[in-house]
Amino acid sequence: MKFNTALCFILSAGALFGMALGRWKKAAIVLAGLGFALASASLMQYWIGHSLGIDEFVVHDRHTPLAEDPGRMSPGTALSFILIDTALILLVTGKSKLVVPGQALAMGSLFGGMIGLTGYILAASSLYKFFWFSSMAVHTSLLFVMLGVATLLASWDKGFVATVTSKKMGGRLARRLIPVAVVLPIIVGWLLLAGARAGYYDPVMIVDLFAIITIITFGVSIWLQAASLNRAHTDLMEQNRLLAKAGNTDALLAAIVESSDAAIVSESADGTITSWNAAAERMYGYTAQEMIGQTMARLIPHDAFADEADVIQNIRRGARNGHFEAKRQHKDGSLLDVSVMVSSVLDDRGKRIGISRIARNISEQKRMEEDLQESLREIQNLKAALDEHAIVAITDPKGKITYVNDKFCAISQYAREELIGQDHRMLNSAFHSKDFMRELWATITQGKIWHGKIRNRAKDGHFYWVDTTIVPFMGADGRPQKYVAVRSDITESMQVAETLARQAARLARSNKDLEQFAYIASHDLQEPLRAVSGCAQLLKKRYEGKLDAKADEFIHHTVEGAERMQRLIRDLLAFSRVGTRGEEMQKINLEQPLKTAMENLAVLIKECDATITCDPLPEIHGDSGQLTMLMQNLIGNAIKFRGERRPEVHIGAVKEGDAWTVSVRDNGIGIEADYFERIFIIFQRLHTRDEYSGTGIGLALCKRIVERHGGNIWVESTPGQGSVFSFTLRDDAQSS
Ligand code: ADP
Repeated sequence: MKFNTALCFILSAGALFGMALGRWKKAAIVLAGLGFALASASLMQYWIGHSLGIDEFVVHDRHTPLAEDPGRMSPGTALSFILIDTALILLVTGKSKLVVPGQALAMGSLFGGMIGLTGYILAASSLYKFFWFSSMAVHTSLLFVMLGVATLLASWDKGFVATVTSKKMGGRLARRLIPVAVVLPIIVGWLLLAGARAGYYDPVMIVDLFAIITIITFGVSIWLQAASLNRAHTDLMEQNRLLAKAGNTDALLAAIVESSDAAIVSESADGTITSWNAAAERMYGYTAQEMIGQTMARLIPHDAFADEADVIQNIRRGARNGHFEAKRQHKDGSLLDVSVMVSSVLDDRGKRIGISRIARNISEQKRMEEDLQESLREIQNLKAALDEHAIVAITDPKGKITYVNDKFCAISQYAREELIGQDHRMLNSAFHSKDFMRELWATITQGKIWHGKIRNRAKDGHFYWVDTTIVPFMGADGRPQKYVAVRSDITESMQVAETLARQAARLARSNKDLEQFAYIASHDLQEPLRAVSGCAQLLKKRYEGKLDAKADEFIHHTVEGAERMQRLIRDLLAFSRVGTRGEEMQKINLEQPLKTAMENLAVLIKECDATITCDPLPEIHGDSGQLTMLMQNLIGNAIKFRGERRPEVHIGAVKEGDAWTVSVRDNGIGIEADYFERIFIIFQRLHTRDEYSGTGIGLALCKRIVERHGGNIWVESTPGQGSVFSFTLRDDAQSS
């Protein structure tokens, strides 16, 4: 190889190296430019016919005869360098417009090398001596082929080289057919020439054989490629079909999203909303048009950002999905609670391209939860209040204790552990009869509430009383599931009641005794008194005026004293009889005892010229004899305690509720308010016997009678004006 040829190869290879690296572009252009200049100058020498002195400028060529210009590169080589260096300059610039001309020039240089190489292989002087390429050395040709191929490959993805390197079917076809088109004719040609030289056949046949073999081999390879293309086409169609099907899946998915009840929203990676389904429109009130292109921030109340921000942050950092509950602001301003599932949306290479949010409206659920919490709190408060006040225990259907509160433990003196699992028999005080307990169980096992008082025995043996309510709680099967017993300690009040009852019984007994005594005493006193009084009367009748004045006075006192004592004993007897010797209560008209009383008082009424008026009187239940005494005492007093005026007495009756108030009004002397209570006490009088006669028993008797009839008696009065004595009688007054 000539020195300049080798130098040009090095320059071109340097430029190619720069181009392949995509750096040092200017240096590459300079190198290619130098190669171009050297080759052009060499070619010029052939044209102008004399040497420019560049051929042996560096190295002296001793191998080439002088007649052939020693050291000068062949014209074909020079032309090839011009082509390849121009191509390199154009391609190094990287301008897309220059790619195709650059590749065409590189191809020209490649063909030059190929022609030279083919000539050598076929040993056909006609070929390798073809035009200027005649003198190209074999290694030079090979280097040009390599340089051309390398230059084309350095711009593999552009221009028409891209057609061959393409992944598409055309590229595949070209890559398979080009080697056949290049290599096959050379091999076939070489074999045919070799066969002819060996004398197997006439060289004239070469053309025919070449045509036949080329047709067959090309036909076969084209057929093979067609079959392969057909297969590829079938695959493509299958892919298309699958793609179409995938398109349907997309439509189905879209339909599912649109008809879902959950609000499904998708966002791009930067948080911009890209889709908004119908449920989201319904749930948040915004249309897809209003929301696509916006962010979710519009729906998030200001104070509720933090919770979900963490979840979203995690998703952005790579988590696949997350969940949170949050508040959302509806377009109308109202707030709703949502449960949101957030997921990353990944493409087929697993790269996150956005976020999807699937939200369910849980406002109702939240509200119910809150209500439930509120109810629970209320129940807890109630329970706390109950525990504060009452003794509470819960038992299972068999009566085994499953729960006791602190008060239960305190009053029973047992620890909770000692009580749980036991039944109430451990507190049994043996006070209640078997029937009592049977009735209790019969009530609660039927699902009815039992209420009553129970005496229990504490651990230390002392007794306590509890007012108990046992409430059975029924199961779905209609049988009691548990019993809740609420008790309150009534030990103290039971003790008080017991004491009171004992005292009352004692009092009743002694009252009875006293009444009995008063009755017997007054009854028995009557007899001797009657004798004293009778004798005194006789004494008065026989000896009055016959003895001295002193004796008359004594007799008078004796008679009067005996009479007074008789009246006293009679009144006392009446008084003591009220409780013990009363008649049967029966329905009577009050007018009847009034009439009897008036008859008894007829003399007095006449004497004093008293007027008695009366309202219509009611029918009541009562003891006629006692009511006569009552009326007689009150009317008698009304006349007795008269003033200057002629006595006027009025008996009135007014109904109030189911009771009658009967009043006896007079225009007598009246009573000071201080004595309103006192006058009803036995033997209490406001006047001396000289002023007004009497025993002081009348009003006390009236009080006993009214009380026996279940009523009250009282007085209203203005001194000097008159008094009103009133008493109540119940419509249905029964014996007390
Ligand atoms: P007695 O009439 O025997 O004195 P009572 O028990 O009937 O006893 O009355 C007690 C006292 O009440 C009377 O002494 C009298 O002072 C007073 N009193 C009773 N009725 C009247 C009346 N209608 N007007 C004024 N004072 C009365």
